[in-house]
Amino acid sequence: MNSQASLAPLSDATKKFLSREKHGLWIGGEEVSAASEKIFDTRSPSTGEVIGRLAEGGEEDIDRAVHCARAAFEGPWSRWSPYERQLLLYRVHDLMEKNFDQLAEIESMDMGAPISRTRASKAALLKFILFFASQTATIAGETLQNGLPGEVVTMSLKAPVGVIGGIVPWNGPLVSQWWLLGAVMATGCTIVLKPAEDASLSMLRVVELLHEAGLPAGVVNVVTGMGGIAGEALARHPGVDRIAFTGSTVTGRKIIEASAVNIKKLQLELGGKSPDIIFADADLDKAVPGASMGVFANSGQICYAGTRVFVQRPIVKEFCARAAEFASSVRVGHSLDVDAQLGPLISERQLDRVMSYIDLGSREGAKLICGGERLGDSLANGYFVSPTVFSDVDNGMRIAQEEIFGPVLSVIPFDTAEEAIALANQTEYGLGGAVWTRDLSTALRVVKRIHTGMMWVNCYGVTDPLVGFGGTKHSGYGAKGGRAHLDTYLYTKTVYINT
Ligand code: NAD
Repeated sequence: MNSQASLAPLSDATKKFLSREKHGLWIGGEEVSAASEKIFDTRSPSTGEVIGRLAEGGEEDIDRAVHCARAAFEGPWSRWSPYERQLLLYRVHDLMEKNFDQLAEIESMDMGAPISRTRASKAALLKFILFFASQTATIAGETLQNGLPGEVVTMSLKAPVGVIGGIVPWNGPLVSQWWLLGAVMATGCTIVLKPAEDASLSMLRVVELLHEAGLPAGVVNVVTGMGGIAGEALARHPGVDRIAFTGSTVTGRKIIEASAVNIKKLQLELGGKSPDIIFADADLDKAVPGASMGVFANSGQICYAGTRVFVQRPIVKEFCARAAEFASSVRVGHSLDVDAQLGPLISERQLDRVMSYIDLGSREGAKLICGGERLGDSLANGYFVSPTVFSDVDNGMRIAQEEIFGPVLSVIPFDTAEEAIALANQTEYGLGGAVWTRDLSTALRVVKRIHTGMMWVNCYGVTDPLVGFGGTKHSGYGAKGGRAHLDTYLYTKTVYINT
């Protein structure tokens, strides 16, 4: 923990944004109050202080936003050429680049990630926009052979699915919202976005920049508010054609039920409990920090965090000692502390949840070898927990099976590759995973047999929009990333032409 922190000064632009009396909803290209006039507070996770007052959208606001999104979808936007949409994305790219420092500050203040982390996400964010700009001109159907009598030409056309309902979590909205925004602008869909109630601010600034870049009114609408009210209304709304949801598996199930109303298409990115397998021949100088930050990064609030660390028995003792040393060297601090590697958890609720799992781990018989405390002194009013390592964990324990979403690493010993594979697959989740070894054939054997959507070898957590992202089992379904991404925002229309 860092009590002598040097905090990055906020830019005037950020101060101005945060000093607004309140932040409204964005519906039909305008900032408006909620129909109920209700507002709610959003807090800095570093201090617990209120940093914004947001309109609390409800069913009526969602309905209005969906109608605006539908009108925009049927309007002139549907006649924009791919080049026009591509140019829009380039203008958006430039504005995001120009305003990035402010966006990073807003994101750090709002969701607690250290400023070094949000600043470092600039390249990833800009890559997203370039990726979608490049995809815009590639949307294409096919001409198809047929066995019909006469002169019938057959082909397929790709068409945008329509109005998207986008529901995103709080653990990194500045970048993660681009999976949706980019695809909407590339395909000609429209969207109603419901950010997480704990971290809505970066999206509210982004929507302003989109309109500054020339986005037509109603293409992107943002309704802030509670998940069980605004989110639920969006998931259920019969005017929404497709839901793109990222969040917990529990909420994912509710979204599936709500989508039945009008057979919405679904894309679900849900929870995880990913395995990270370290063989005795691994380069520990890389594996220890790599596997540790595979759990601790973003204070453990990453869906694909490799929280179950399986370590081959001959190196368990050394790995534990080095992981504990690494964990205690990690600098935890205020999100504006320029040297902090980890910030706070998002909320008091999340802090209580993580602390209760740490308590549970000890009661289940795991050995707490590092961390496990709520941090005090200058950080006492924020939601800080120290990076935590448990050794002697059994894969059947609840700390090894349930998603904690905090900086808690569990070391589970194994003897053979077969055993590691079997243990790694004993989970309801299937999102990420990694293997550390100098033997490429061992690595590939493990990669092929672990049931997850993403695997890393001798690294953890690198991602790129050009490449697929997503999970299997209870971690969700529906492609994200790569060439398949845009397909999920399109449908295929088969055409028969009697010549
Ligand atoms: P959450 O499910 O509580 O909330 C996510 C979003 O859903 C929020 O915007 C929330 O307001 C909304 N929501 C809540 N209840 C709803 C309902 N009944 N109907 C519609 N919307 C509702 O999740 P969280 O706690 O905010 O985020 C953490 C979870 O997200 C973790 O489980 C994590 O693994 C998961 N996650 C997954 C990925 C991925 O790509 N797989 C990425 C990030 C986070």
